[in-house]
Amino acid sequence: MSNGLRAVRGMNDILPADSPLWRHFETMVEAWLDLYGYREIRTPILEHTGLFRRAIGEVTDIVEKEMYTFVDELNGESLTLRPEGTASTVRAAIEHNLLFDGGKRLWYRGPMFRHERPQKGRYRQFHQIGVEALGFAGPDLDIEHLLMTARLWRQLGLAEAIHLEINSLGGAESRARHRGKLVAYFQAHVHDLDEDARRRLHGNPLRILDSKNPAMQAMLEAAPRLLDELEQEARVHFDAVRQGLVDAGIPYRVNPRLVRGLDYYNHTVFEWVTDRLGAQGTVCAGGRYDGLVAQMGGKPAPACGYAMGVERLLVMMQEAGLAPGALAPDAYVVNVGESAGRFARMAAESLRDAGLRVLLHAGGGSFKAQMKRADASGARHAIIIGDDEAALGEVAVKPLRAQGEQRRFALGRAVEILKGF
Ligand code: ATP
Ligand code: MG
Repeated sequence: MSNGLRAVRGMNDILPADSPLWRHFETMVEAWLDLYGYREIRTPILEHTGLFRRAIGEVTDIVEKEMYTFVDELNGESLTLRPEGTASTVRAAIEHNLLFDGGKRLWYRGPMFRHERPQKGRYRQFHQIGVEALGFAGPDLDIEHLLMTARLWRQLGLAEAIHLEINSLGGAESRARHRGKLVAYFQAHVHDLDEDARRRLHGNPLRILDSKNPAMQAMLEAAPRLLDELEQEARVHFDAVRQGLVDAGIPYRVNPRLVRGLDYYNHTVFEWVTDRLGAQGTVCAGGRYDGLVAQMGGKPAPACGYAMGVERLLVMMQEAGLAPGALAPDAYVVNVGESAGRFARMAAESLRDAGLRVLLHAGGGSFKAQMKRADASGARHAIIIGDDEAALGEVAVKPLRAQGEQRRFALGRAVEILKGF
């Protein structure tokens, strides 16, 4: 196929063979969010570029090199396909004054866009489910988020394979103190820094800790730890989060180098990780971002949230044999003859009136050929109609998945019989 007629690289079609798994996942997620009282918000896929630059931070992977940004030729505005959901959610909350009567528990779903190198578990259009709790201070919501994600892994059948890592980025005071020590340390090891790290040394030194470059690991392991700098308030907050995890029996590992890729975090940050996906091991990530709402022009409101990568979770479910099959029809209506065809259409509608899933054979062909199609469809019954049946208002019913004779009934009776299965 000529290049122009292929999907954009890194952007996937979700084909019918995969959609039962997507639906199964989405249905479970909706019910799970209802358990915790989160309400869905749907924001546009396009936003003004400035929104993301301001919310995510200039010296981040996303803003530096991953955004799909273009100029709207009709009015010259710079627009960006959303690379994540927090910025839009906070924008909408401010724009519509959603926090006027207190904190809000929100969630969103949908495609996100990042110009990255496509590989397994990393795409240019991918899907997230995200949760944001706006307007809640203290550790309660951090703990709620960790408990609720742990529940989702149990419900999806993935609890064994996903593990929790947490860290605290502290408050403004401890971050400033740590930043000074970190820059001094990196300057002393400047020859060990790769190009990315050198560029970040003054813009965003914390992010250097996040580097996956093998050559820098030993140096990074020995770097000053933010955890050792935490002020009293941050220490109390973090201890409360840890206590909440202990109370709930959720195992976790403190990872002092976990800093997250976005600028807006403070206090608790976390990642749920797996070793089943190779390098793309993080399935869910988030934390607290108390300063973001005010930074974006809203009345100051503490907040926390997280997002999970749907494709990564679905690969895990697929590989664990947890993907459901396609929904089989209850009946496949075989029909040969002109009057049979007209009666078959009515019969199929009557069956659907009763809530049955019906495939009506289309395109003609012999009884034998149509019966083959009926069998291949996975239907539990074939409803067989020739001109003789049509003349009497009857249909023949043949079980396809169990032993049993083909038997003839009045249409109304056949509907009752199929409903009884
Ligand atoms: P990574 O370190 O893997 O690049 P990230 O820190 O950029 O992840 P977040 O912005 O925290 O990711 O997004 C939350 C989740 O969304 C990730 O943990 C991951 O599961 C998923 N995700 C992020 N980028 C992609 C992508 N390009 N393709 C598929 N899933 C992704
Ligand atoms: Mg990334």
